[in-house]
Parts: sequence; structure tokens; C-alpha cells
Amino acid sequence: MSDDKTRTNTTFHATVPGVARIGANRELKRAVEAYWAGRIDAAALTQTADGIRRDSWNQLVQAGFDSVPVNTFSYYDQMLDTAVLLGALPPRVAGIAHPLDRYFAAARGTDEVAPLEMTKWFDTNYHYLVPEIGPDTSFAVDATAVLNELAQARALGVPARPVVIGPITFLALSKAVGGAQAPLSRIDDLLPLYVELLAQLAEGGAQWVQFDEPTLVTDQAEGLAELAERVYTELSAASARPRLLVQTYFGEAGDRLAALGRTAVDAVGVDLVAGTADSVVAADLADKLVVAGVVDGRNVWRTDLDRALDALTALRPHVGSLAVSTSCSTLHVPYTLRGESQLDAALAGWLAFADEKFAEVATLSRALVHGRDDQAGQFEAARLALATRATDPRLHVAAVHDRLDALEPADWTRTTASARRPLQDAALNLPVLPTTTIGSYPQTSAIRQARHALRTGSIDACKYRNRIQREIADVIELQEKAGLDVLVHGEPERNDMVQYFAEQLDGFFATANGWVQSYGSRCVRPPILFGDVARPTPMTVGWTTYAQSLTSRPVKGMLTGPVTILAWSFVRDDQPAAVTARQVALAIRDETVDLERAGVPIIQVDEPALRELLPLRAADRDAYLDWAITSFRIATGGVADATQVHTHLCYSEFGEVIGAIAALDADVTSIEAARSHMEILDDLNEAGFANQVGPGVYDIHSPRVPSTDEIADSLREALQAVSAERLWINPDCGLKTRRTDEVTAALRRMVAAAVLVREEA
Ligand code: GLN
Ligand code: ZN
Repeated sequence: MSDDKTRTNTTFHATVPGVARIGANRELKRAVEAYWAGRIDAAALTQTADGIRRDSWNQLVQAGFDSVPVNTFSYYDQMLDTAVLLGALPPRVAGIAHPLDRYFAAARGTDEVAPLEMTKWFDTNYHYLVPEIGPDTSFAVDATAVLNELAQARALGVPARPVVIGPITFLALSKAVGGAQAPLSRIDDLLPLYVELLAQLAEGGAQWVQFDEPTLVTDQAEGLAELAERVYTELSAASARPRLLVQTYFGEAGDRLAALGRTAVDAVGVDLVAGTADSVVAADLADKLVVAGVVDGRNVWRTDLDRALDALTALRPHVGSLAVSTSCSTLHVPYTLRGESQLDAALAGWLAFADEKFAEVATLSRALVHGRDDQAGQFEAARLALATRATDPRLHVAAVHDRLDALEPADWTRTTASARRPLQDAALNLPVLPTTTIGSYPQTSAIRQARHALRTGSIDACKYRNRIQREIADVIELQEKAGLDVLVHGEPERNDMVQYFAEQLDGFFATANGWVQSYGSRCVRPPILFGDVARPTPMTVGWTTYAQSLTSRPVKGMLTGPVTILAWSFVRDDQPAAVTARQVALAIRDETVDLERAGVPIIQVDEPALRELLPLRAADRDAYLDWAITSFRIATGGVADATQVHTHLCYSEFGEVIGAIAALDADVTSIEAARSHMEILDDLNEAGFANQVGPGVYDIHSPRVPSTDEIADSLREALQAVSAERLWINPDCGLKTRRTDEVTAALRRMVAAAVLVREEA
């Protein structure tokens, strides 16, 4: 077969690295959940999946794309799909006969087997399943799924480009189990499989194949440039293969791009939103197609088409040929603006969700070939929208900027923790080893019904308040009976710890249908932070003071911190995140001051997302940590020394942010620790942290109620690292996902354990 015959489609002009698959109206979520519940069978689920795939391919073809990603569909997660493709499912699910059930068992577990661990996909809010590589893992290609999709797409006449996670990223994101070496050490075992896969895809009629290698924009492993060169020299030498695109995203590929340039791969994909064109220009890509991600695939703003086209035009002389794309898969943004009828016209004009991004890519690729004038209408519309965005008063609120300008270090520096401690002790009068909880209590169906009834207008604000107050009274009673020392109101009024605040702050907008997959069938609807942020009126004071009125024990007020609010929203891109974070910090600060004035003696500001926003490249980390710490301290620096500030962190390995946790200077830090055997305490000690700390003494992620002895043992373990004067006792996160009976039993045992250990002390 001559090269030219097998690879007729030598280049392309417009594409995306991948698309969402949950369905524009979350059809896949519904179908998958129905399958899990036994309400539909595998055939019905497959049918829904086929429909979702067909619709999205058709849409991309109609948008004008001449290369369409396939195999970006997933029933649960693309890393798990890759584990299936490479024969690397954990042995514990091997006995499950039906492939779909085996797959879901690895994803979610069953009564008999534990699921794979789940963790964040780079610095996004998507979570992937972490493949396990043991000493006995023997890889084997099973390309059924990708070949099926390819065949299905080709039968529809779609110019299909199968997408698979590349070997470097697959191994870098996997974890070693059973004493195995680091997964990346298995790279040479995987390469023959990828060669085999290339042959099968060529045989299946693929003109192009895309291997995703986002790991190449990180510092996750040593020698990534050399590794990329070696791996892709070998893969591009495969005798029978489609044209090969190596796709990077989420950052600057730097010298790894130059390394790819030295191989015989046909194309490289680059993220020109998170990264720059510098490394593209520096690399020798004169014989390559460069897939230029100039349209932001993970934020919601309309593209500045003039700027994007200028960037493309400047790049063109440096590369073999150029295709236009989004910076990454549109998995990370909602499907479409259509149906967002609550948006005002101005705001709607500034936004682009996936559908609108496809159109932008198509416009840019046409303009690149035929000139800007060919697409004059589109460019003019984009220019107009940008102009209104640049001048909209909601984005330029003088009062907000004046406050920011007036900020000085004294505003984010409290006195020393040791100076604050006696004042707080005197005000609170707590026993040694005080007990508390993280904030939320079970979100019962009564609570959800009340919120729903208020939203749909079937009850008024007054009735709603009564119902929520009843819930608060119940959890206050539950806590008093359990014998806890510091109580909370239980957060019954909160749909979500970010959205609740976003709905009340100026500068935010909540979408009607802006769902984005978080993991598996779970979707979130991040608010859009579009303007200058300010807090028009108190957001939590009424609920907290009501709770305080019911008890003589101290009640802790509960807020979400600025870093977490940014992390879980779509954030404006027209000013540095550090500035936006300070605006949010001032709004939270206003709330803390009002809580204090209303007599609330303890205020917790949660920052579970602190680790999440940590930049992928080490060189960018200090700047991030600096603004993250400062914004938390602005949020909490407005209260008197006698007011005790708590924070809460969870969801992560804290390694790289331990120093930052110390620098937050919260009086009390509650932190997830139950699953890591209190190691976090040693880490904090090493970082010189000397404030009070509440390591989670039991895991709330499981319905299991721990025994008193178990909790007491955790406490004794914690006391090895931290003196009794510094130690608090709490679960490792909020209790909203648990049932009331579980919570009641677990908290009683937690208090009993505290009593036991206090006596020993
Ligand atoms: N205060 C919140 C709660 O208890 C904290 C949630 C979180 O850490 N994610 O639910
Ligand atoms: Zn938590």
C-alpha cells in the first residue's frame, strides 16, 4: 500500500480535541442511573449512548469540521476506558462476566469489590478513575470500543479521528499497587500495544488518530521531553498506522513540543489559551500540522476572534500547516447557550458554551483560509460583544476597586495566634479536646422539598424560613444530645457551598442548564463569575443567629472561602484571578464582620479547593499560593482577636500546600486525615504549624458508623503528634451525604471517645 493511498486525508482545518458526552439534557446520566437501578437493560443504555454520539458527530460535521474526534464518548470515564483498552482493569473485577457490569464495578464498586480511586483530572473539576498497576498487571489490547465507534462514525460518513489517552499520560496518572514499581517504568511494555492499536485503527479505516498527552504540560515526572521523544519516535515508526496527532492541553508544552518535533508524528495539538505560541515557534514543526487551540475549551467566554486570528496568522509561517481547535475538550463547559433565557442580552453576548465554541472554531478556520472579510459578520458580532463587555458597569464598579486599592498588609494580618488564644479561650470556655463538626448535617428530603417549593413559588419566603428553622432546631437538638462542644446550624438552606453564595453576591450569574460532568453520572452547574463582586446584604447571619438563639453553647458561623468560590465557578478572564479573589475575599470579610457583630464567636471559612487550583508547573506555584493565602487572610482578617477563625480542608493530598495551610493562620484548621492515619499532623508540624488543628477522626464518606474505640485510637494517634492543648475532635468533612441515624450514632461515639481520651490525658 502506498503511503498516499492509505492516507488520503493528509491534513484538516477545523476540529476539537474532544466533546462532552453526558448529553445536552443529561440523557446519559439518566440512562446510566436507570441501568444501575435495574430499570433499563444494557441494550437500552447502548441505544442512548449511540444517539448521543451520533448527535454530537453530526453537529461537528454540520459546524464545518473536517476531522471529528470519536471515542471521546464514555459511559463513565476516559481513563477507565483506556484501562479497558489496555487490559488493565484490576483483577478483583475480572470475575464479573458482563463487560458493562465489570466496567461499572471498577468505577463504583459493588458489595464485594472496592472501586478504583478517583482524583482530579489535572487542574480541572473533572475527576477520573485511577488505574491500578500491580506487579502482575499484564497489558493486552482490547480495542473493541474504539473500533466500534470508528465503524459507527464511518458508516455515517463522519471524518472520524479516534482519540485515545497516550501511553505517557496513562501511566503517569495510574498508581502502583501491590509493591509494583512506578507505573511509568512499564512504558516499554505498553509501546507494542499502542503499535498494535495503531495497526488495528488503520485496518478499521482511520485516517488520523489522536493520542492525548496532557501530562506533557506538567512537572509530574522527570525527563518528560526525552521520554516523549523516545515514545513517539517509536510509535511514529510503526509500519501500519494512521496519521498521528499528539494532543497536549492545559498548559505550555515547552521543550516537550520541541521533542515531539524531532519525531515523525504528523501533528501536534497545543493549548494556546493556557499556554503561549512561544514553544510552538521555538520547536521545529515545519513538517507538522499544528492543531492550534485558540478557543478556550474550559471557560465560558466568547472568543476575541480578531486576536485569535492574529495569533493564528503569526503562527502560520512557523509550522507545516495549521488547524483551528479549542484549547482542550469541551467536556469542561456546558453544551449550549440556547435555553438560557434568564441571561440578559449583554451577558449572553459575552458567553460561548460548547456549541458556540464550535462555531467560533469554524469561523476562524474559514477566515484563516479565505481572509477575515469572508467572515465579516461573525467578527463584527464578536467585536461588538467584547466592546459591551469592556464597558459594562457591572464589571467596573468603582466602589469595589476603591476598596481593593485601599487594602494594605494590615488588613490581612491578624496579631499572632498565641496572642489571640487566651482571648478566645476566655470567650469560649471550652474543655480540652473540644468536639465539633464541619458544618453540614444530612440534607433530608424535607429540606430539598422546602427549597424546591420556594423556587417554584408553592410556598412563600416566610413559610420557607419556618421550615428551615425547624431543621436548624432539629440539628441543634441533635448536637446538644450528642454532647458536642461547638455547634453549627447545619447548612440546610444551602444547595451547594459555592452556589449558595454566588446566588447572593453581585457579579455572579447562575445558569439554568449549564451542567458539566464532574465524575461518572455526577454533574455540577458552576456559577459564572462575570463582574465585580460585592455583597449587597448579609447572607448567613439570620440562620446562624437563629441557631445561636437556641443554645447556650457556642455556634460556629459557616462560610466558603474565596479560593474555593473561584475554583468552583467559571471565572472572568479579563483580569487576573488574584484581583477577582480579593473581591470575593472582601465580600466574605463583610459577612464575617456582620457575624461577629451579631454575636457569633467562631467563624469557619472553608477552603477545600486550596490544593485544587495549584498550577501544573512548579514555576507558577508561588504566585498562586501568594494570592490564595492573601485572599483567605483578607476574608478572615476583619474580626477581633477574640473571634476564633476556623478553616476546613479536604479532598486531597496536601503535600505541596502544607506550608500554605500554615500560612492561612486560621486559629483552628480541621482537615481530612482519617484515611491517611494522621500523617498530615507530622507534615504540619514539619511546616512549623503551631495553631490548633482538628484532624478528621473518622471517614464520613462511608455509611459505616465507627466504634468508640476506633475513634479513641485515632485520637491517641493524633496526640502523638499534637499536644492536647492544640487538638480538636471532628469528623473529616461535612455530614450532608449521610443519614440522620448514622450521624447521630457516629457523633455520640465521637463524643464518648473524647471523654475517654480526656480522662487519660
Ligand atoms: N462546611 C461544608 C460542609 O460541611 C464543607 C464542605 C466541604 O468541605 N466540601 O458541608
Ligand atoms: Zn470537607
